Amino acid sequence: MDEKIKLSLERGESLPLMESFYSIQGEGFYSGKAAYFLRIGGCDVGCHWCDVKESWDYDLHKLVPITEIINEINKRVDTVVITGGEPLMWNLNLLTKSLHEKGIKIHLETSGTHPITGNFDWICLSPKKMQQPLDNILTIADEFKVIVSNNHDLIWADEQRKNLNKKCKLYLQPEWSRREKMIPLIIDFIKNNKIWSISLQNHKYMKVP
Ligand code: SF4
Repeated sequence: MDEKIKLSLERGESLPLMESFYSIQGEGFYSGKAAYFLRIGGCDVGCHWCDVKESWDYDLHKLVPITEIINEINKRVDTVVITGGEPLMWNLNLLTKSLHEKGIKIHLETSGTHPITGNFDWICLSPKKMQQPLDNILTIADEFKVIVSNNHDLIWADEQRKNLNKKCKLYLQPEWSRREKMIPLIIDFIKNNKIWSISLQNHKYMKVP
């Protein structure tokens, strides 16, 4: 990687932006709310069921200066969701500072596998079995969303919640390609473990990005 580009990434002055769009949050606590999404390229977790595999290789995505990212956001937007890929692979200090200066609330969607940078109003932690979250994010996550693609994921989810803070919202979300099999299992599990709620990928049912 060119030294200048490396420096700009290290300083968080630009990011490999895969896409940005204004839509409806489909999942979890803020499901149904309007939000502007910034999908940052790069992920080293490797979930076999990942529905954004094209995000994994950050080299495929154009490096965009933070000023340009911010200028693209129109005045109607009050919430930005930073997602990926795995956004915490990058320095998010400048991006989150610039968004907050515009009075925008910032939500993060992360697997928690990299140290946290930046400041967020809401952190949705979605842990993955193949690379577990770092300890420090467990205590500050506002929302814990486990993707369920088999029976064991339910048991695993319940084990993982032990180090979370008490206010953290707990969601079980069926893996999209297995949703017909998983939804009945999740419903049964929640009836017996009422601390959990179900999250569906409503944007996919509504066919919006
Ligand atoms: Fe895909 Fe997210 Fe898993 Fe990365 S952490 S492989 S982006 S589902």
